[in-house]
Order: sequence, then structure tokens, then C-alpha cells
Amino acid sequence: MTAANKETREFQTEIKQLLDIVINSLYTNKQVFLRELISNAADAAEKMRYLTLTGAETVQAAQPLEIRVETDEAAHTLAISDNGVGMTREELVENLGVIAHSGSRSFIEAVRAGKEAGSPVDLGMIGQFGVGFYAAFMVAEKVILTTRSYRPEGENLIWTSEGAGSYDITPGGEIARGTTVLLQLKEDAYSFAKPDVVKQAIKQYSGFVPYPVFVNGEKVNTVEPIWMKNKNEIKDEEYTEFYKYTANAWDEPLYRLHFSSDAPLALNALLFAPAENLERFGFSRMERGVNLYCKKVLIQEKAEAITPEWMRFVRGVLDSADLPLNISRETLQDSALIAKLNDVITSRFIKFLQDEAKNDPAKYAQFWEKFGRFIKEGAANDFAHKNDLLKLMRFESSKKAAGELVSLAEYAERAPETQKAIYYVNGPNRETIESGPYLEPFRAADAEVLYTFDPVDDYILERAAEFEGKKLVAAEEDSGDLPPRTDAAEAEAEAADGVPAAERPDLTGWFKQILGEQVTEVRVSARLTDSPAVTLTSYGTHSMQRMMQLMDQKMADAPPGVLEINCAHPIIIGVNELRKKEDAFAAEAAAQVLRNAQLAAGLIFDPRSLVNKLNDVLARAVAKG
Ligand code: ADP
Ligand code: MG
Repeated sequence: MTAANKETREFQTEIKQLLDIVINSLYTNKQVFLRELISNAADAAEKMRYLTLTGAETVQAAQPLEIRVETDEAAHTLAISDNGVGMTREELVENLGVIAHSGSRSFIEAVRAGKEAGSPVDLGMIGQFGVGFYAAFMVAEKVILTTRSYRPEGENLIWTSEGAGSYDITPGGEIARGTTVLLQLKEDAYSFAKPDVVKQAIKQYSGFVPYPVFVNGEKVNTVEPIWMKNKNEIKDEEYTEFYKYTANAWDEPLYRLHFSSDAPLALNALLFAPAENLERFGFSRMERGVNLYCKKVLIQEKAEAITPEWMRFVRGVLDSADLPLNISRETLQDSALIAKLNDVITSRFIKFLQDEAKNDPAKYAQFWEKFGRFIKEGAANDFAHKNDLLKLMRFESSKKAAGELVSLAEYAERAPETQKAIYYVNGPNRETIESGPYLEPFRAADAEVLYTFDPVDDYILERAAEFEGKKLVAAEEDSGDLPPRTDAAEAEAEAADGVPAAERPDLTGWFKQILGEQVTEVRVSARLTDSPAVTLTSYGTHSMQRMMQLMDQKMADAPPGVLEINCAHPIIIGVNELRKKEDAFAAEAAAQVLRNAQLAAGLIFDPRSLVNKLNDVLARAVAKG
């Protein structure tokens, strides 16, 4: 080459500044330079494809468009080649020497203009961002770019720069059409000449570029970006393969949701619920599993901003062409847009689960068993979606067999017009709940009660307060919202003997006097049929009280509540007789009635404190017998 052919040019001032930013701070993760260069290669191929499709360039149409990466560990080099459009001398200067002029951007504008003129080609181009190429200088001390434009006037050109303010353009280099970017790696980036490192980075960041990528002759992007395809073009096995690839999983997904929308945002999403929830088995808290793409280019892996935390079990891809990514794709800049994206995807996913639950309840039950806790987490914390998440919750019910699940909606539908509330009761299991006192008024009314085995359920239902116009009422709540007894139950209650009505005010007054601060009030119960007494809370639920007790060690005693006594029960009748005889044991028995009620409510944690008292009672019973 002669001196006359060699052209040395200064980078535009802004580029010098930009280079400094890019090299030193733009990308936190060095390997993204590969994504940038491969994206550029894919863009160039895409432009070429467009030209051949529109008939502007037919000469080399038969040649498959592809991207080749070659590594040379000994020489510490890495080369990325494409057979795309290439660049002319003018384009080299414009595209790689001047900022605020992205060749891709003007190309897209040209395409858009062409489209308006009636050209039907959809161009899925990815590089409208403007600074990607310079990322090469994060790892390269020198970049040697050889190119030849597809244009007839194109010549073979070599562009070189050390990123320090200037670049040279000289004729030469061997290339038929397209571009090769050769990087002479910096010492701290030598690892990028290792094939494995390069393959891994390409798989991670460019696994889905729409042209084949070869590393030293081996094709590395084997999985297609199927989320951009039409649903009915994709086989189940392909979905499963993609799931395994993207979630790094071995199981088959339980659910999959593939959808696209144009408004309010352009997006394509492919989401999966795994078959198993490892958090359930004590594995550590999952990371988010949805990767964010813009037109098939990875913007952020495991993006946190695009789904609420409770959706962390969801795996998959979200691709939006609307993402504004001016400088770094690592920083998602328009938070309003991301928030919108988050809302769209969350609402759509919830809707999907609601449909699934309706169409295949058995499968949904399987999902609920494994992932219900995430739904509950959302129902408790995700303010925007908690009402919809409530609909996804499932419970066992007094009207169903063990293991069968019902939703609040089903309950509401089944309940008689006159019933204004949805009732629920908490307990460690079905047997305990069904043998406890809280179910009694509902049995007598033939009303359905939901069983909440998880205190979190109580927390959610209590905070929700109502569902579709019906109040949510805990069975242990001191609430007037009780369903009316059936006529038969009413007749039975009336027929039962008990403490004479005239003595009842004295009896409750006496109970209160004996129990003192341990209760807020003692009253005759209209709830009970079989148990002697029950304790009710005037605020929250017993689950909440238990939690407070657990947190506050000093609150070892059960918090005071209302004690309702069953005046038809032999124990209460007996206590009343003892009281009238002024037997000292009456007070002991009354105290035990309260403790038993608290035990039945699950409010006493350390039963050892009861042993001495129980022994006293037992001693008395034995002595009598
Ligand atoms: P962007 O891709 O966002 O436009 P880059 O800095 O990555 O910004 O690239 C700048 C421009 O250089 C591109 O728009 C394109 O015109 C040109 N270019 C870069 N790499 C290639 C390539 N392999 N083939 C053809 N043109 C390229
Ligand atoms: Mg680019």
C-alpha cells in the first residue's frame, strides 16, 4: 500500500468522549462486546436479506447469510465475520467515525419510507442503538475491520484503530462481501480467544439471533427465537426444548403462555411455569426467570423490573420492540415504560391462570399445590393485582371432601342469596378444625366454611375484607355476621335444658369476675352446640394473634378476647351449680373452661404450664369416682 492510499482520520470529538465512557464505564459486563459485534453482523445480514428480497441485489442471493467467529489463542485474537452488506469508504467514515449517525438508524428510516411507498417487507433489525461497535475497545487494544460493500462501487477496505482518537482506512484485505472485525485482545481480555468462553457468551447473549453463528466452524445458536413465531407453527417439543434451554431446566413445563400484543405495547412473550417448585424443598429463594429482549437481542437476563417478585417462578422471554435503549442496554431507562410492560405481562399471566383454572381444574390444583405460595405472596403484597390473585386462591371446604379445593367465586356462587358473608376458619389440619368449636354455628346453619391451614391465608382474607360484595369473616371473629340456624337446629336448641334463663346474667357476671383481665367480656353463646365455651377475637384473627405471640416473647399468655359460654353444656351447668353452692372448685373449673377454649383456638403454646392445673382437676374427678 502507498502513503497516498492511506487515510488517517480523527474521530469526532464526541466519539472520543464516548469511547472513554464505553471503555471505562458503560458496560458492567465485558462480554457484551460480543453481543454488540454479533448484533451488527446480524444487522448487516438482515439488510442484505432485505435487499435480496426486494430484488435490489440478486447477484449473491444464493449464498446463505451467516456469521462466523474464529478464535486464535496463540495470537490472542478473535474475529467476527459476516457476509452482510459491508461498507463503502464513505460509510466507514460515517458509521464508525461520527456519532449521532447510526447507519442502522438511517437504514431503518429509509426502509420506513419505502414501506410507506408500499413495500411490504418487515425488517427485524436490532441495532438502532448507536454505540455498540465501540464496545470492542473494552477488550481490544486494536480493532482491524475489513469490509467490502455489496455495492458495485465497493472496494476492499481495512479500517484500523486503537481507540485512541484516530483511525486509518487503507485499501486491501481479503473479503468477498461483508465485514470481518478482528480484535487484538488486551492482556486482561485474553480469555476471549478461548473458544469455550466465546461459545458460552454467544449462547448466553446471542442464542437467538436469526442467522446461524459458527465458532471455529461449529454452529452455536441452535435454538430458534420461537417466541417471535406464530403459535401454530411451533410444535410442543420445540416449546419444551426452548423451555429447557432458556430456564436451564430438566423438567417439562407445567404451563406455557405464548402471546403477543401491539397495544398498549408491542411485545412478544413466551412464559413457562416449571413442573416443580424447588423453593418448596428448601432451596434458596429463586431469582427472576424472565429474560428481556428487544427484537431478539438480549437486553437483560433475569430482568427484575419486568415482573413482580411473586412471579419469580416464571421462566421465559419477553421481547418488546418498544424499548428505548439509547446508550446501554444494561440500564433500563424508561421506568414508566418498564412499569407498563410489567403490568401488561402480570395481568396477562394472571388472566391465563384464571382461564387454566377454569378449563382444567385438576391441573390447576397441581399448580396450586406447588406454586400456591407465590400466588399468596402476590395476594398479600402486590397491591395492583391482589384482587385478581384472590380469585386464584384455593381452599378446602366444609362442604367438600378432604383434598378437594374450592375458590372464593365458587363459594359465593353456591351460597344462598341471604348469606352476606364468606366464612373461613383456620386450623393446623382438617381434623382439628372439624372437631373444634368454631365450626358449630356453621353446621347448625348448614353454611359452608373455608378451611385455611396456612396463617398467610388468614392474613390475606382479613386484609381483603370482602370478595365480590360478600364480607370475608373469620369464624373466630366476634362478629354478628353469623348465618341463621336451620329450623331443625333452632328447635333442638330450644328443646335443650340448660342454665335457667334467669340465672344466666349472674353466671356470666361471675365468670367475668373470676377471669378478670384474661377476658374482655363473657356472654351466653348463640353459636355453640357441642362445646362448653369458645373464645372470640374482636380484632383480626387468631392466626394474627398467634403470630404476635410468637414475635413478642413477653406476650406468653393468650391475648384477652370474648368468652362465650354454652349454657346447655353439662360443664357450664355444673359450674353454675358449684357457683351457687359457693364451692371453691367453681373458680378453678371456670379458669379451666377458658384455658380449654384458648387451647382449642391454638392460642396457648406451652401446654406444660397447664399440667399442674389439669392435675388438680383430675385429682378432684378421681376422688369423686
Ligand atoms: P448501531 O448498530 O446501533 O447502529 P454500532 O456502533 O454498533 O451502532 O454500529 C455503527 C454502524 O456501523 C452501524 O449502524 C452499521 O451501519 C455499521 N456497521 C457496524 N458493523 C457492521 C457490519 N458488520 N457490517 C456492516 N455495517 C456495520
Ligand atoms: Mg450495533
